[in-house]
This record gives sequence, C-alpha cells and structure tokens, in this order.
Amino acid sequence: GWQPYSVEMKTRAIILKSRPQGEPTAENFETRELELPDVLRNQVKLENICFTVDPYMRGRMSDADSYVPPFQVGEPLDGGVVGKVLESSHPDFGKGDVVASDTGGWREHCVVEGSELRKVKGDVFEPSDYLGAAGMPGLTAYSGLFELGQPRAGDSVFVSAASGAVGSLVAQFAKLNGCQVYGAAGSDEKVEYLLKTLKLDGAFNYKKTDSVGKSMKQVAPQGFDLYWDNVGGDFLEGALSQLNLRGTVVCCGMISTYNDETPSPGPRNLGLIIKNRLQLKGLLVRDHAHLMPEYVERLASWKKQGVVSWETTTLEGLEKGVEAFLGLFDGSNLGKMIVKL
Ligand code: NDP
Repeated sequence: GWQPYSVEMKTRAIILKSRPQGEPTAENFETRELELPDVLRNQVKLENICFTVDPYMRGRMSDADSYVPPFQVGEPLDGGVVGKVLESSHPDFGKGDVVASDTGGWREHCVVEGSELRKVKGDVFEPSDYLGAAGMPGLTAYSGLFELGQPRAGDSVFVSAASGAVGSLVAQFAKLNGCQVYGAAGSDEKVEYLLKTLKLDGAFNYKKTDSVGKSMKQVAPQGFDLYWDNVGGDFLEGALSQLNLRGTVVCCGMISTYNDETPSPGPRNLGLIIKNRLQLKGLLVRDHAHLMPEYVERLASWKKQGVVSWETTTLEGLEKGVEAFLGLFDGSNLGKMIVKL
C-alpha cells in the first residue's frame, strides 16, 4: 500500500492576526512558523518562489459573506503561488518542476493538490507572470473585455487603475482591437507609462484633479462607448456621465471602497442608465476559467510579436508580503505586485 513518505518539515507563513478595521495596518498580520502537512496521495510539496498579493484579498480579511470564504484569524493567509516541486505523489509532477497553484501563497513552502497545478514553461513567460499577465489578472482583462465588453474597432474605451495588473492589459487588448483607449492612474510617472509605453490616446493623474468626470471629458470630449471599472466611487460616477448612448460598463473591481467601514453612497447619476440605455455588466474571472488555455496561447504570441508588454513590481522576502499588499491601496505598484521569496 501507499504510504506518506515526507519527513516532518516546518515553514514560515503570514498569519491574519486580527481583522482590519478600515485600512489594514502591519499590526493585523504576523509571521509564524508552521508545520507542513504530510504529502498525501496526489499532492505535491512546493518550495515557493514567489506569491501574489491581490486587491480581492482585502475582502477575505473581513468576515462578510462573499464569493470567496474569509481568511480565519490565527490562520495563514492564502492565494496564488509559483513554486518548485520538492516532493510529489502526483503522476504529472516530479521533483524540480516549476508549477503555479491558486493556493499555498503567503508562505515559504506549501503542500497542495496536484490536480490544481499548472506547469510553468520558461520559454515565453517569467515564473511570476503565471500570477499576473499569464494568470488570473490577465484572464480577467481578456475575458472581461472580449466576453462582456465586446468593443468594436473605433470605440472609445476608458480604463481606471490603468497602469495596474488588470488595467494595463485591458488597455492594450482594447488598442489591439482597434479602439481609442484612455485611462487614469495615480502618479505622473504612471501617466507617462500609459502614454509613452502603452500608447494610450489620452491619460490623466487622478490625484491632481478635483473632478474625475471633468478630466475624463477633457481627455476624450467624444465620450466613451465602454468604461472598464477597477475603482468604483468617483470613477464610476464620472464615467456614467461620459458614456455615450448604449455604452457599457464592465464592473471588474471597486478598489476605492474596499477599506470602507460603511457602504459608500452610490453614484448620483444612475438615471443616465435609463436615459442613455447603458448596460452595467458584473465580471467574475472564475466564470471564464475555461478560456485560460486559449488566452495564454494568444498572450504568448502577442508577446513574441512585441505588441503586448507588462510590468512587475517585486518586493523580496516573506515579511514584505504585508507591505506589498498594503501598497496596492496606495498605488506602490506599476503592473503586477509580486513577492519573491
Ligand atoms: P492593480 O495592479 O491595479 O493594483 C491596484 C491599483 O489600484 C493600485 O496600483 C492603484 O493605482 C489603484 N488604486 C488603489 N486605490 C485606489 C483608489 N482609491 N482610487 C483609484 N485607484 C486606486 O490590481 P489588480 O489589477 O489586481 O486589480 C484591479 C481591480 O480589478 C481591483 O479592483 C480588483 O479587485 C479587480 N479584480 C477583479 C476581478 C474579477 O474577477 N472581477 C479579478 C481580478 C481583479 P494608482 O496608482 O493608479 O492609484
């Protein structure tokens, strides 16, 4: 009969010490040593190479009912990770393979189900890309834009948080589709990146405007046919006022509200949905998981042709996980935020 053969081993992980009230702080987290479980049948033990921090994890730090179960106080945080196989009892993976997993992040080693792993191919992508452009955020951009947004060539598209992991890809995929693309970000350097590197048709620093809606109108007086919402709040209200007849909003995220203790008031101009026959479409990337193979193949070919690029902001060391996560809310990242171990 089959026997677990792993030797007892410890690892270090970041624990949720207390649930954040409003904006999370370093005090809500701590680093702790844990015992790694045995490698059971079809499981794999990884030495983690890098893990992801994502805005949706803020929701899991609260107790509220959501589409992903909350993290538990006193338990490690969790999320996507790329690691090297140390030990495997799954037939598809052997020692030394590099793989991506949706669970096992926020720690130095993990034991995960082999059935949930993707092999990392080193030819086109960096390992960390499997947590960004070639992973969940990339698929969010691709599936949300083409399945829900369905822009036509010539359409005018606005992207909020446009220099981030999802936003920077949405903007480029829309450009590839023949759209005119506009965006906003939170620093002058990011705006320059949007204009010079991603070749957007217009962009502004939202931290330097007193009205997001007015700035949207200034960069694109013709209005928008599609608004990609990563932010909510002022951005959603501003975009509703700038959407053309039969315009669409892809509701991807509302990061400006994730640290709110009480629900913030909604846009004051929802009547425009009726007047202009607007459509607001909610996106959850997991509904589109079946598109991952097709998407990654297309992304690889776009990358080889040099028509799509992306940035990664990397912090080093397990302890930097908290700083990296908090940085998502003050815009410390250009492109995907990654923690390298
Ligand atoms: P990003 O890489 O875009 O990082 C977050 C960025 O948001 C920051 O860099 C910051 O950039 C910007 N930001 C933070 N706070 C604010 C604010 N108050 N107002 C305006 N901008 C702000 O993260 P992701 O690409 O991973 O995620 C982007 C959005 O997509 C999030 O809302 C996320 O929840 C959502 N998402 C949704 C998915 C789904 O299935 N629906 C799946 C994946 C992501 P700046 O410097 O420009 O302020």
